[in-house]
Amino acid sequence: METTAPKNFIREIIDAHLGGGRFGAKVHTRFPPEPNGYLHIGHAKSICLNFGIARDYNGLCNLRMDDTNPEKEESEYVDSIVEDVKWLGFDWQERLFYASDYFDRIYEYALALIRSGKAYVDDLTADEIRQYRGTLTAPGKDSPFRGRTPDENLDIFTRMRAGEFADGSRVLRAKIDMASAHIVMRDPVLYRIKRERHHRTLDKWCIYPMYDFAHCISDSVEGITHSICTLEFENNRPLYDWILSSLGAYHPQQIEFARLNLSNTVLSKRKLLQLVKEKYVEGWDDPRMPTLSGLRRRGYTPLSIRNFCDSIGVAKTDSIVDIAVLENSIRGELNSTCPRRMAVLKPLKVVITNYPEGKTEELEAVNNPEDPSAGSRPVPFGRELYIERDDFRETPPPKFYRLSPGREVRLRYAYFVTCVKVIKDPETGEVTEVHCTYDPATRGGDSPDGRKVKATMHWVSATEAVEAEVRLYGHLFTKRNPDDDDFKADLNPGSLEVLFGCKLEPSLGRALSGERYQFERLGYFYLDPAAFRDGKKVFNRIVSLKDTWAKIEKRSA
Ligand code: ATP
Ligand code: MG
Repeated sequence: METTAPKNFIREIIDAHLGGGRFGAKVHTRFPPEPNGYLHIGHAKSICLNFGIARDYNGLCNLRMDDTNPEKEESEYVDSIVEDVKWLGFDWQERLFYASDYFDRIYEYALALIRSGKAYVDDLTADEIRQYRGTLTAPGKDSPFRGRTPDENLDIFTRMRAGEFADGSRVLRAKIDMASAHIVMRDPVLYRIKRERHHRTLDKWCIYPMYDFAHCISDSVEGITHSICTLEFENNRPLYDWILSSLGAYHPQQIEFARLNLSNTVLSKRKLLQLVKEKYVEGWDDPRMPTLSGLRRRGYTPLSIRNFCDSIGVAKTDSIVDIAVLENSIRGELNSTCPRRMAVLKPLKVVITNYPEGKTEELEAVNNPEDPSAGSRPVPFGRELYIERDDFRETPPPKFYRLSPGREVRLRYAYFVTCVKVIKDPETGEVTEVHCTYDPATRGGDSPDGRKVKATMHWVSATEAVEAEVRLYGHLFTKRNPDDDDFKADLNPGSLEVLFGCKLEPSLGRALSGERYQFERLGYFYLDPAAFRDGKKVFNRIVSLKDTWAKIEKRSA
């Protein structure tokens, strides 16, 4: 079969199943998020895998809210998940399901297990159950309630459901083997009593199935062929198989793969929730967050995320992918699609002393050197300009080739200019203005006599510039692999830099919410729709350019 995503071991398993006639010719996957947080880039890997397989094998992929745990789930999360999967570009058609829709069936299955003597009600406390479970090296012990008859169990379990017992006072357990080498098989809990309102079934239930029980049954009910999940569920596969075999129910194949870990961030919903709740970030969609809503607001495109997910592959062992791989994915896409513009983020005033007062002229700037069809645009030039403060040094260090006293440089698409005077604040000594002369013969940025300059700089006209706020982002964490417990200690205090009064070339005054631009020499920027809705023009830096000169500069500075 032709596939558009690269082959991986999961696709090889599916090929073998198709070749051997297992599941007929059918491929049916699902993406099963627990609606207790927003989706992140790790989930995107699972989404691309599941929906990508369905697409490439002419199969189907369901979106299923795995909402068996009533306490942590909220409809805000359901809505965000639906929005994010759609945004990534995948379609579940009419197949949006909820595990909670199966609560009646899951309950029936529990009764069936009890009737066949494969489940029992246990009155031990949670602590006792833990003590009885044994360890990796020591077998567990049978609960004194393990010998209850099916009739007795049916009676107590139906009364559990009817609300006769206190929360936590009893559980339903599978009756498997307390001496099993797989601890998960030592009579795992299937149902617990919990008086908690569920976001969909409200107060209908006071008992809720455990994840392991609900998940395999949900897969079975939906006719899933390949239940793809992350490696931590490998230990649970024997239980997945035991439950469905014991019930004689339709039986999907569970396949595990290594979850995505990304450097300089965390991909645990629990930790991300803490960052939101404790206001280390603005919200789930803070552009520094690895959530899909954060990446979207930062300016990432769905294509760049899908390409990233396809490029990192699917493996059986855990590893950390460098966040630079994700950044390269968006850079690669935007390089060919983004119009170039000039913007000065930290402005320094330049006066061209030999340029006529009151005169402006229009110069032609190329929109995208990678794409000739993008054409060009006029940019106004005048006597007063802004350049980047960093592009000027009164006393240039070695290898600093940009503007300094007596030095000639090129202003992109404009003229060669030479610095003739530096104006400073008499009190602070700070450079407030730089005076230059320009060479009219170099119009457009070319020198007719073959004279060379070592730097080309961006600039904007001071009289025509439009102002905006620009936000620069660094990695959320300074450490490549943030500490597991004390992760907040590794937060990057410089992850957000807000710049006010940035000067943009006038054409950017017409920029629309959601548009992306390359600001020459500075990176790719996105006009933040969330801020735009509040009437503010804020450009988020999506990613910087691969900028080697900036690094050289830093080292020699
Ligand atoms: P929780 O700790 O709440 O269970 P989770 O990260 O497992 O968090 P789920 O909502 O259960 O979140 O995940 C939905 C699906 O996405 C699961 O199939 C899970 O295996 C997969 N998934 C979650 N995190 C990653 C990741 N980092 N890489 C790849 N797949 C992931
Ligand atoms: Mg999970």
